[in-house]
Amino acid sequence: MRLAIRAGRLIDGTGQPSRRNALILIEGNRFTAVSREDDGSIPEGYEVLDASQYTVLPGLIDCHVHLVGSGDPKDSAFGVGEVVTSIPAVTLNCYRNALQDLEAGWTTVRDAASRHFADVALRDAINRGDLVGPRLWCCGLGITSTAGHMDREKYLAPHVSLPGPSAVADDPTEGRKAVRLNLRNNVDFIKINATLTEHVRRYLGYCAPEMTRETMAAIFQEAHWHGRKVTAHCYGGDGATWAIEEGIDGIEHGFYLTDHHLDMMAERGTVLCPTLSVVGRFREHGDAALPPGNPYLPAWRLKAIAHAWDTVRRAHARGVKIICGTDAAMPFVFHGTNAYELEMLTEAGLSPLEAITAATGGAAEAIDFKDVGTIAPTKLADLACVDGDPLEEIKILQDLQRIPLVIKDGRIVADRRPARVPALVSV
Ligand SMILES: [Zn+2]
Repeated sequence: MRLAIRAGRLIDGTGQPSRRNALILIEGNRFTAVSREDDGSIPEGYEVLDASQYTVLPGLIDCHVHLVGSGDPKDSAFGVGEVVTSIPAVTLNCYRNALQDLEAGWTTVRDAASRHFADVALRDAINRGDLVGPRLWCCGLGITSTAGHMDREKYLAPHVSLPGPSAVADDPTEGRKAVRLNLRNNVDFIKINATLTEHVRRYLGYCAPEMTRETMAAIFQEAHWHGRKVTAHCYGGDGATWAIEEGIDGIEHGFYLTDHHLDMMAERGTVLCPTLSVVGRFREHGDAALPPGNPYLPAWRLKAIAHAWDTVRRAHARGVKIICGTDAAMPFVFHGTNAYELEMLTEAGLSPLEAITAATGGAAEAIDFKDVGTIAPTKLADLACVDGDPLEEIKILQDLQRIPLVIKDGRIVADRRPARVPALVSV
């Protein structure tokens, strides 16, 4: 199928300013040409889609979601969900959440830890065309240490064993094995845990490392040998220093990164995915966004709020590459509300264009998914039409009614255009 889209305004995802009146040509599932509309007429054989009243953006990319969780604070996907939810139900929940991302214009999501390789199964079903859904970039099981951030067994009686969303590695050999377990299941990238969240919470910002420097180095080497990037759940401290020095590709959250960490990241090209949505929802919902029963969490919430935006501001000033990731699945971070992160990034000093680039071309490059992210010849034909100019008002991307059309692979996957009134017939 050949499709010609008349775009009233185009933001192409490269970081270049928007331009008016572009003509976008799609053949099959790829963009083939982008030109100024007055440069030529529409070639023969193309179906025309009139988006002249809209701004056209590349399909958006959320670099940090968990499809297993919905964002409902009562959702137990990360807690006891494992023992009360069947594996097929987990996978169906993932699909429901993925559809909500897609509906809102997020045509690619990077899943930063799943269960039972449900992410990989869903990715493959979507890629085969069996299901309509966003493109998934999967890491399978997050790699954690015994009693680490993702070791769910720490919540259980010692005689109970449970496969959680993680592979446990306490030394370099186990680290290599955990990477290979994920590779065996054909993941796209590797996720590790570099700081112990529980300690961060208890001691209000003291970032205890989760695994040894040697374990991290072995994991990174193994992943890089196999062409996979590695990113870490990481707040700061020695875990961040070791991860950056040993060559990690990205840091998630990073609320307590120091200037020294950020300088190293800028120099080495380490990417920051700050997931400000989590902290933004903490700020909005107060302690209601916290699971009950942990006396340290309310103070930790306030500490995170005090640091998160400032860290992004300092990172941005140093030229650290920042990408958009929401951590959808965390309390009140619902799938489909991903564009809230763009608002949070602008609050931290990014321009609206920089925020959009962090969710399009910049994101694609950073996560090494180079077929998506920009509207340019040879790229996969994913785009979202927006009613209005998000560079003027970034919040409109949070309003589904302002995103009338979503296209993936050159096909309409969401259509909320106002119903066309039939022309009056004169008699
Ligand atoms: Zn996460």
